[in-house]
Amino acid sequence: MPPVHDALPPLAGLTPAHLDWPRAADGTASPHSREFEDVYFSRHDGRAETRHVFIEANRLPQRLRDWREARPFVVGETGFGTGLNMLCAWACFDEHAPPEARLHLISTELYPLAHEDLSRALSAWPDLADRAATLLAQWPQPVRGVHRLWLDTRVTLDLHFGDTTERLQRLDGRVDAWFLDGFAPARNPAMWQPALFEAMAARSRPGATLATFTCAGVVKRGLAAAGFRWRKVPGFGRKREMLAGELDHPPADQRRRHTPWFMPPAPLPRRHVAVIGSGIAGASVAACLARRGVRVTLIDREGPGAGASGNAQGVLYIKLAAETNDQSRCYLAGLLHSRRWLEAIDPGRTLWQPGGVLQLATHAREQRRQARFVDNHPLPEGVVHAIDAAGASRLAGLPLEHGGLAYPCGGWVRPDALCRHLAASPGVTSLCAEVRSLHATASGWRLTLSGDGDPDHLEADQVVIATASQAQRFAQTAEIPLQPVRGQVSTLKLPEGAPAPQRAVCAGGYVTPPLNGELTFGATFQPKQRDPGVTTADHQANLEELARTLPGYPEQLAAHGVGLEASALEGRAAIRAASPDKTPYAGPVPDAAGWREDYALLAKDATRVPDTPGRHHAGLWISAAHGSRGLASAPLCAEVIASRICDEPMPLEAPLIDHLHPGRRLIRDLIQGK
Ligand code: SAM
Repeated sequence: MPPVHDALPPLAGLTPAHLDWPRAADGTASPHSREFEDVYFSRHDGRAETRHVFIEANRLPQRLRDWREARPFVVGETGFGTGLNMLCAWACFDEHAPPEARLHLISTELYPLAHEDLSRALSAWPDLADRAATLLAQWPQPVRGVHRLWLDTRVTLDLHFGDTTERLQRLDGRVDAWFLDGFAPARNPAMWQPALFEAMAARSRPGATLATFTCAGVVKRGLAAAGFRWRKVPGFGRKREMLAGELDHPPADQRRRHTPWFMPPAPLPRRHVAVIGSGIAGASVAACLARRGVRVTLIDREGPGAGASGNAQGVLYIKLAAETNDQSRCYLAGLLHSRRWLEAIDPGRTLWQPGGVLQLATHAREQRRQARFVDNHPLPEGVVHAIDAAGASRLAGLPLEHGGLAYPCGGWVRPDALCRHLAASPGVTSLCAEVRSLHATASGWRLTLSGDGDPDHLEADQVVIATASQAQRFAQTAEIPLQPVRGQVSTLKLPEGAPAPQRAVCAGGYVTPPLNGELTFGATFQPKQRDPGVTTADHQANLEELARTLPGYPEQLAAHGVGLEASALEGRAAIRAASPDKTPYAGPVPDAAGWREDYALLAKDATRVPDTPGRHHAGLWISAAHGSRGLASAPLCAEVIASRICDEPMPLEAPLIDHLHPGRRLIRDLIQGK
């Protein structure tokens, strides 16, 4: 099995499934794969087949009824297809599990169904219509990677788009029950390989069960070689036999043996978590934890929407590198995640607006960079595509001189309102106070607070630090490198009838469609500056950038009587934080002194990797360095942290989880002898 840091496959779109819809004698049409020349489910009775083969043979009704763990029960499937199996597992959970239980579904798929095919296939089951509608509303773009969907407050579905074996090799999580689906081994021999069974074993919880419709020799041999015990049991319909099995002792996860510093810490009690900082990073962690039943105290000296997240408008956008790297993978996953998440938490769209984002190439170097990006990234049109000046002008509703890239998944958000909304999640208590210091105790953490009338101490099982460039102020996080970046936005009141961009448009800066008659544009990007005061010089810089992004627009505004003097503009300045490599930090806080002790020899010989897992400040986490793209990165980073705290499968591949690790710069410096 490849080590966890092996390069991931290219960032690319996937080929959707090609289906036929043959009709049975009773006139009903069911999906049939052209690639594999096989059926997605039994034409005879797909529901009954799923129940018999996957649900009953894994003893799900009984196991879910008895489920008392704080973590979710995890089902893993090879080949999502129409989702029938997963929707049935969800229905079984609702029928049998106690109210405090949670379910986590993981399924792989190399050829995702097109939305209309999925809709048609699932329309065969009227009693699953509500569940199907929830799935269809969040059905992801066909892009390789992990896509997390919220089926309801207790049920999560992670779709791992890509080849099953490769996906399971990179899965950061463990499974309690396997649905071993995927077309018949004779029709799909590429999937049923020893590496698949090895990956399943390595991603199993002790006592994991499995069920599959087939009894093919290659499956029996593969399962046995990977350590599964299997037995033949009666099959469904005309199939005489099928397989059911268990794995008592899964192998240890060997993938981080070359990078033991990234070994995740063991789960700890999590009844009460303190989150420091209520900008988008902290507020989204708070909401993610509260959704999982954790009691959260969200602490901020200013209240929800602190710092840069206090802006009235912000752009949900990313900038991807011309050559694929892990940072781009994280940001693209973040953009797609934020878009789904916003739809799920605010379907009425009062906190955000879709509509896409235009990223203009206003000079030759950027045009060449974008051309290389497009050549290197065969991504679906619905995610990103090249656009000429005429097309961009049509989308923007204003004449533009340059084309660029269109990101239809982007949009704009009201960060201040979003943070207030998240802070008001049931289970989250907001506290206006400054956290002075953090002390580890026998049972968790003691926070020393200051602020009028506040308690001067707070006890919590675990703590998440999400205070942007202030995050370094704590002794435990002092060595995580963070740079302040000042950013000022400018706002302009537009008179009735004045022209305005219909989409968010980015070039050197950005401009959003107006909100309540106000146009927001900016923001300046001033590394190493901490002054939060609004300046006329920065308004002037924003005006000049606006004129470069939307040539002729200032003149149009002037014709409508809009005064464009920098000194008359309103605005807001805030300090964001960036890491030296510009990737956010999301994960456990490393014990820097412990790492220096344990990994000192690496400076002399980087190949002498000790067998010592990274020491962490137990129960201390950080989400920071979101720079100016926090709307795309912070919600996914919140899921990363909440998933780890709650001992759940992760919403990203293991190499990307490591890429976000807050200790990555520390270990790099140690290896380089700095
Ligand atoms: N479980 C599905 C359901 O409930 O509808 C039916 C699955 S269908 C029989 C098999 C699925 O496996 C197809 O959707 C197919 O595209 C997918 N598949 C086949 N080979 C694969 C591979 N190597 N990696 C991921 N998915 C694969």
